[in-house]
Amino acid sequence: MGRNRGRAAALGAALALGLAAVAVGHAATEQVDLLKVRMGGDASETRLVIELDGAASARVVSDGSADRRVVVMLPGVTAAQLQQGAGRGVVRAWTIDQVQGGARLQMDLAGDGKLKRRFLLPPADGVVNYRYVIDVAAAPGAVMASAPIVKPMNPQLRSQFLPVRKPALPLKKVVVIDAGHGGKDSGARGALGYEKDINLAAALTLSEQLNRTGRYKVVLTRSRDVYIPLEDRVRVAQRAGADLFISLHSDSGPEPDLKGASVYTLSDKASARATKFVSANDWFMKASLTGDQGVRDILFDLTQRATRNRSAVFAQTLVANIEGRAPMLRRSHRDAGFMVLLAPDVPAVLLEMGFVSNPEDEARLRDPAQRARLMSAVTRAIDSHFGEQVRLASR
Ligand SMILES: [Zn+2]
Repeated sequence: MGRNRGRAAALGAALALGLAAVAVGHAATEQVDLLKVRMGGDASETRLVIELDGAASARVVSDGSADRRVVVMLPGVTAAQLQQGAGRGVVRAWTIDQVQGGARLQMDLAGDGKLKRRFLLPPADGVVNYRYVIDVAAAPGAVMASAPIVKPMNPQLRSQFLPVRKPALPLKKVVVIDAGHGGKDSGARGALGYEKDINLAAALTLSEQLNRTGRYKVVLTRSRDVYIPLEDRVRVAQRAGADLFISLHSDSGPEPDLKGASVYTLSDKASARATKFVSANDWFMKASLTGDQGVRDILFDLTQRATRNRSAVFAQTLVANIEGRAPMLRRSHRDAGFMVLLAPDVPAVLLEMGFVSNPEDEARLRDPAQRARLMSAVTRAIDSHFGEQVRLASR
């Protein structure tokens, strides 16, 4: 990515250019356990929350509009045993059982209604588990049969409603690595080659290093030379339930003597744009826990702020770890309005690893040993960032 500040327009143009498949890493293949199920809401809208020890997606088999029965499959999710309970509001009763390939949720509705929205919430701000949230809304004017009276359960029966188990080990943090550019979008051009190839080589090196620690679930936005629209890169991070998003780029500048690495996070100004962008795409709206617009706005604002703070903290850690191991620009931590940093609930930084327009930097960026060295600084920064969080949380 170039140095000039009018870059947002160029990114917008890049965004409009075209489509390609999104190459996601191996996050989806890992087994995820169902921890517990909660319900909330009233006769107009009811929410069921499935707590999970990892990220998961879901597929709607039946949305309830035809037969008052909502069926959702969670592929790759394990429910240790059959779970069921009385519902509330729109939902009369629910069951989760294990079927071929995953967990199957069935909700019997108390009247006309249907599945309204569903989304995955990653662990954030004090909540340690992933949550798959499913909202079911009553049809306008629908009359709900009163919820069945729940008889007191005998203790043996009760055990199946308790949390299945606590995860024995701390959950793996999900790190999404984004190799900038790719395919028809070559990025900056150096004397020896293109930015896109340097970025990809660095992303693969970083991925390997992080995997070797065994502490992270690593997802790559691309693992080969392919074009991926910027908004798809953001979505990959959201779907993976990323705890951290790191975008790797190489700079170019008009002055050949400009060199060194730098780290970007989202600025306040860019966040204002993000608000617009995100609302239009209905990302955060889905994640808010209330139907009240005013509260939504506040929640959105808080999430943005918290995410920005976490991004800035990581950026500082990253700069501190790179210093002394690779040349850096004088003002190494800068704010930017890059589209890839706009996911509202994922802390994100963009690392410009150096300038392909500077011969020394370009040679360094293309050298496998120097690349491994720079990426191990990034690995250390990630370790130290999450290590710090773990210590804070256990206090
Ligand atoms: Zn770039």
